[in-house]
Amino acid sequence: MPLTVKSQQLVQRYQQLEKEMNASGVSMLAVSKYAPDEAVQVLVDAGQVQFAESRPQNLRDRANRWPACAWHMIGPVQKNKAKYIARHAAMWHSCDNLETARAVARHVTGKILPVLIQINIGNAPGQSGVSPDAAPALLEALIDMQGLQPVGLMCMAPRGGDVVQAFRVVRSLRDTLFSGSLPASAKTELSMGMSNDYRLAVQEGSTMVRLGSILFGEWDNRK
Ligand SMILES: *Cc1c(COP(=O)(O)O)cnc(C)c1O
Repeated sequence: MPLTVKSQQLVQRYQQLEKEMNASGVSMLAVSKYAPDEAVQVLVDAGQVQFAESRPQNLRDRANRWPACAWHMIGPVQKNKAKYIARHAAMWHSCDNLETARAVARHVTGKILPVLIQINIGNAPGQSGVSPDAAPALLEALIDMQGLQPVGLMCMAPRGGDVVQAFRVVRSLRDTLFSGSLPASAKTELSMGMSNDYRLAVQEGSTMVRLGSILFGEWDNRK
């Protein structure tokens, strides 16, 4: 079946961004939380394998529908949804408290789930993440937890703040926290950069950008 114009444009944006991120050695996650299944299928057919969702049930449903893709969890997790993350997520980016981590870990069987600690840089109220001060204690606890393996940090740029400065703080925290705790072969991840700031994030050392609106364009049904 020939692609519609809307689909062709999605594929073009995808190829352009993919090329740009490849050239920087950075992974690109397609944030499909506002996109319909049809758009996900277009990207899958174009070769994209890494997707991110912010709701546990959607992640579960899409991981079941596209099991060959890696589904990253980037949103808040209620304890009663922990099992979806344990079973279906390729990586959990939004870990920010011990209780939820324990709940997720309890449901992990037969694998190890890579986890990122989400940092709330300015300690902004109403935003997810732990303050940089609280990150070392959470990391210590995660290291001892069976089923989870902490592999890096995730952040969102503070609204209205100095984005570059924020990215630098998180990068340097990642460097400090993960300097000795991982096997030499393991890669430490820094999940930062969204549609509005991904180039700055790449400059500041991001290893994974999470792109929604800039990739999905008119398919992105937020509101
Ligand atoms: C929605 C979301 C994104 C993608 O946002 P865009 O600005 O559309 O690229 C990235 N990360 C998180 C945590 C999100 O919730």
